[in-house]
Amino acid sequence: MKPVIFCDFDGTITLNDNIIAVMKKFAPPEWEAIKDDILAQKCSVQQGVGRMFSLLPSSLKEEIVQFLLDTARIRDGFSEFVAWTKQQHMPLYIVSGGIDFFVYPLLDGFIEKERIFCNRADFRGETIQITWPYACDEHCQNECGCCKPSLLRKLAPKGAKTIVIGDSITDLAAAKLADHVIARDFLLEKCREFHLPHTPFTTFYDVIDALKESEVIA
Ligand SMILES: [Mg+2]
Ligand SMILES: [Zn+2]
Repeated sequence: MKPVIFCDFDGTITLNDNIIAVMKKFAPPEWEAIKDDILAQKCSVQQGVGRMFSLLPSSLKEEIVQFLLDTARIRDGFSEFVAWTKQQHMPLYIVSGGIDFFVYPLLDGFIEKERIFCNRADFRGETIQITWPYACDEHCQNECGCCKPSLLRKLAPKGAKTIVIGDSITDLAAAKLADHVIARDFLLEKCREFHLPHTPFTTFYDVIDALKESEVIA
């Protein structure tokens, strides 16, 4: 059976975190205290992200998307990586704590929508309301928002090896379940600390090489 790949979006496929970029550009200063609460674990990611977006008027939708299309950068080798996984018949899923209204446009032309799992936004109210189609299952109490370990449990067929690609604390719970982790930044430090089987990466060319060398695809 082919291994199943779960790849993060913000800070992994894109060079920077898009939620932070949007808040810096569009939100009133209160967003920073909410971000600090999330980092200090005084509130869950789900609560914090919901509160941050509720600071933004729904009317900003198009402007936010355009801003990210103009400024966000996709990491080198990503489209080659997607093509390679197809060639190898390896299922690839994008699992993201980002929001559909910017994740889809940024990934348009790179990968099919059906392979992307992220949060959603509702623009019918005065301010942006986030909805959570992939909230935690009964095995996770973290209020992740988009729960990566739950998605891993749901999408990987029984017995299939799993590979997690990511960069941050929000990838750690899924990384602990994976057979192999391809990591950068904070997640890389955590892989070392917890002795998780892993390979560091900078570009998606490195990711292809890591997968070619990894025992899990043999
Ligand atoms: Mg990330
Ligand atoms: Zn969860």
